[in-house]
Amino acid sequence: MSNPFRADVGAALRAAGIGMTSQRTRDRLVDTLEQLAPLDARVLDAMRHVPRHLFVEEALASRAYDNVSLPIGHGQTISQPLTVARMTTALLQGPPLRRVLEIGTGSGYQTAVLAALIPEVVSIERIAALAARARRVLRDLGVRNVALVVGDGSQGLPGKGPYDGILLTAAAASLPAELLEQLAEGGRLIAPVGAREQVLRRFTRTATGLQEERLGAAHFVPLRRGRG
Ligand code: SAH
Repeated sequence: MSNPFRADVGAALRAAGIGMTSQRTRDRLVDTLEQLAPLDARVLDAMRHVPRHLFVEEALASRAYDNVSLPIGHGQTISQPLTVARMTTALLQGPPLRRVLEIGTGSGYQTAVLAALIPEVVSIERIAALAARARRVLRDLGVRNVALVVGDGSQGLPGKGPYDGILLTAAAASLPAELLEQLAEGGRLIAPVGAREQVLRRFTRTATGLQEERLGAAHFVPLRRGRG
């Protein structure tokens, strides 16, 4: 796979003085994930290259390659690596994706994984401070195929649709119908749905309607309305 990160990430890591250590820990994390679930090889390859430690506070960087979610401030969390791998795998299954909308940029880590795999990524975050931090990290890594938007994405981002893929990284009590309307034919929407008990779901738009699958239990922070 051609990986847009390789050169830039190498430079960023050398500048941070981290070098090979984190490549080894990243490889170890990906080896662990491979044992836990059937995951797309392209996703695993992207995760070998995206430096997750740059998406968390420095004090937590030593835990960045553990398979855990971590706090990123403002009461939000960076998703667990296995969750990122599962959701991205579910999104990729099917015809190739050209444009993807992510709702809930958070740290920007999932955004970076998407950007390594998909030509055009639009990501929306309601908390301006998180969006600003994610924008800086992505820029420092030389990621250029992401448009970050600050705002409430609970209704999607209709102006720029339709999308071949939509990824919701916060849990909706029930899925807003507007999101499904922004899905192109053949497109997939991956979302944790439910108030107390969340289930990861995949909706696929077909020529005749919507196909819905359950992909297992999920644990996400809630999708909120309005700006942060
Ligand atoms: N993929 C991110 C997950 C962050 S947690 C990561 O791994 O870092 C989910 C994010 O969704 C939070 O940053 C939260 O602020 C954001 N969010 C919640 N409701 C939202 C909404 N209506 N519109 C946009 N972002 C929202």
